[in-house]
Amino acid sequence: MSHDDLHTRLGRAAHAPLLWTFESNDVGELEDHASEGCSVCARALVNARETAVDLALAEQPGRAPDGGPTNVLTRTRELLRRRRMTGTRALGPDGAASGPKPQHASRASDPSSVVAHKHLALAADADRIHEIDALDARTPRAGEGTERLLAQVARFLDFSVFFVSIVRGERASYRVQRGLAPELAAFRDLRREMSFCTHCVSAEAPLVVENALVEPFFRGNKAATRFGVAAYVGVPLRTQNRIIIGTLCALHFEPKTIPHGAVELLQVFAERAVAEIERERHPDLLKAVLAYSSENGDVYTSPIFHRLVNAEFNRTGRPPFERGPGSVLVTFNAPSEKSAASVVESHETAGCLAPSSYGILLPNAAPNAARERVAKLVAAGATSVFTASAHDARSGTEWTQRAMQQ
Ligand SMILES: [Zn+2]
Repeated sequence: MSHDDLHTRLGRAAHAPLLWTFESNDVGELEDHASEGCSVCARALVNARETAVDLALAEQPGRAPDGGPTNVLTRTRELLRRRRMTGTRALGPDGAASGPKPQHASRASDPSSVVAHKHLALAADADRIHEIDALDARTPRAGEGTERLLAQVARFLDFSVFFVSIVRGERASYRVQRGLAPELAAFRDLRREMSFCTHCVSAEAPLVVENALVEPFFRGNKAATRFGVAAYVGVPLRTQNRIIIGTLCALHFEPKTIPHGAVELLQVFAERAVAEIERERHPDLLKAVLAYSSENGDVYTSPIFHRLVNAEFNRTGRPPFERGPGSVLVTFNAPSEKSAASVVESHETAGCLAPSSYGILLPNAAPNAARERVAKLVAAGATSVFTASAHDARSGTEWTQRAMQQ
């Protein structure tokens, strides 16, 4: 699907999907794409149309914006900001919900499912089914590291449930999950229109949903109405054949603000998820991602680990004057990748920095947690153990270099 220019413009607001604004001559193009099954365009249209109606209601006689922002765009942004965080709709100028309830489609209507049905007919879907079956992608293999991968991802993102999901035909299922309640884990798949993943897969782009419970496009989705899924962040899993077969994603049952670095982190971790799925067809892929891997601990290769450190810094980075829990890079020396892996725990994200130099990335670590980790490393026989925090530098690269120079 190539509406790249339009998507790029829409994508600039991807983290605030209710704030999409577009020019009137975009509307025809958006409608065309949406009717072809483009989730990005359909979502923009549905959300923007409700915004327009809310705004019109807020402008009704007797509800004039006295004392409120008069600029339409400013008023729209303010209205949407409040609605996104609180679920309050059609706010009056004083911020209180007032006047008649807006006459929008009820919660029973689900535009996300209407678009998802269109995904089944897209040409890319036939290729997807073929690729998933050729890889037997829905079946985890004995000894693969995908559960460890999800444990590592979970340390970075404070979400409830994580999936390596596979989207095939009418069903969205998972290869591996983490965090599902036992009664839900028994359901290995969902109807495709209930999944958020179908929108990520078909759009071939990351999907960020901060509050599905109030967002017009998603709030009728049965995953939201039945299971209470409020927040979602997912990135596509793209095989060596350039076919997207599923997602690496996280769900949460409360609204979440999702920083850009969270998407970047998932994109790097997704490379490992794909390498695990393709391990029989392309064993070299896993070697490019992992320098050493065992049940007890993984050591990522230097290029992957540097990207993870950078993404994490982007996620949590803040000016040095703001102190508090942050991410910490603990570095240490070890004679080999195998011996480095022996002092790493399976849920930790560790990797190569330079020859004989390794790092463990501790997300959201309080200062004493970092000190305790260093003490454990020293007790385990690691040498030259140092720490660097995200506060120490303004860029991830600089951060890594400083750690290595200590
Ligand atoms: Zn589109």
